Amino acid sequence: MNIPFVDLKAQYLSIKPQIDSAIQQVLDNTAFIGGKLVNDFENEFAKLYKVTKCVSVANGTDSLYIIMKMLGIGAGDEVITVANSWISTSETISQAGAKPIFVDIDPVFYTIDETQIEKKITARTKAIIPVHLFGQMCEMNYIIQIAERYNLFIIEDCAQSHFSTYNGKNAGLFGIAGSFSFYPGKNLGAYGDAGCIITNDDSFAEKCKMYARHGALIKHQHKIEGINSRLDGLQAAILLVKLPYILEWTSKRIRNADLYDKYLSSIPEIHVPQRRMNTSHSFHLYVIRCIKRDSLATYLKEKGIETTIHYPTILPNLEAYNYLGLLPEDFPVATAYQEQILSLPMYPELTEEMIKYVAETISDFYSESI
Ligand SMILES: *Cc1c(COP(=O)(O)O)cnc(C)c1O
Repeated sequence: MNIPFVDLKAQYLSIKPQIDSAIQQVLDNTAFIGGKLVNDFENEFAKLYKVTKCVSVANGTDSLYIIMKMLGIGAGDEVITVANSWISTSETISQAGAKPIFVDIDPVFYTIDETQIEKKITARTKAIIPVHLFGQMCEMNYIIQIAERYNLFIIEDCAQSHFSTYNGKNAGLFGIAGSFSFYPGKNLGAYGDAGCIITNDDSFAEKCKMYARHGALIKHQHKIEGINSRLDGLQAAILLVKLPYILEWTSKRIRNADLYDKYLSSIPEIHVPQRRMNTSHSFHLYVIRCIKRDSLATYLKEKGIETTIHYPTILPNLEAYNYLGLLPEDFPVATAYQEQILSLPMYPELTEEMIKYVAETISDFYSESI
């Protein structure tokens, strides 16, 4: 059996007639940048997400950068985030002119260790960026309390957590704004780069939109210098077709995670992902921890099963952050886990048979390697 890590083709084929005609419609109307479909997508996403404003942007990196820039975060400021994430999370802090301050991960849930945030706060700290990594919500009540005590902004990086919930509330609604990516492999994926900012603060939404449109909400009336960060019509058309399916696709991911939990539970060499209480994990990724990780990955590859690592080097250990002078020992949990984590194939279209095959192959590896 061949099981790719993600299968964007399977999802495309399941909605092909709708996608093809949506693309044709964009070609017929030549509405390539902005236009009705982009506005429609912003409105529909905001409605489904139960938020007042959605500002579409070019990708999920820009969305983080724009939020920070519009909050006035810049030179001399510090922003606290987590040691394990995609580099966009910390890169945009620097891009805004501020300094990224990393916190180790929680050993059970793999998100920011909220109990270690407070000791990283200084007079320069302006914001915390919790990342709901893999689809797992961070401990938001705790983070909100710290943010209130020190008067810090919360900017949620929701690139991997579309429709994850914490106490019944969607990811992205706990701070000033939530940042989303619609990169093709994300839970809601375009067919190119795309992203958005959500917020219940209408005037903040206006500011972000203006900045992302060259500083002008009305053509040629540039109130400030901004940037060019727009969603194009083709991506909006594709996202509009996919949006009505997202809740069903999320349920399927959760069902697949349940199946993995069931079939993997008898293998002592691996830890299956734990789910935080009173949350719904959207399972962008199903990440196990295991011994002999690299040999296991090679073995699975030989048996037709594709896996990846998120992420092989945690942010503070990357060459890009040498200038901060941090040591791997400063992040003991994340540093240890970077050698143990393995992301198994995860997408809504996986079947029980495929999941069973993955689990059996993992089990075979450990029986053979004794
Ligand atoms: C994908 C991702 C981003 C960036 O999104 P792009 O659309 O690729 O720019 C940011 N943060 C995290 C955690 C991500 O996984």
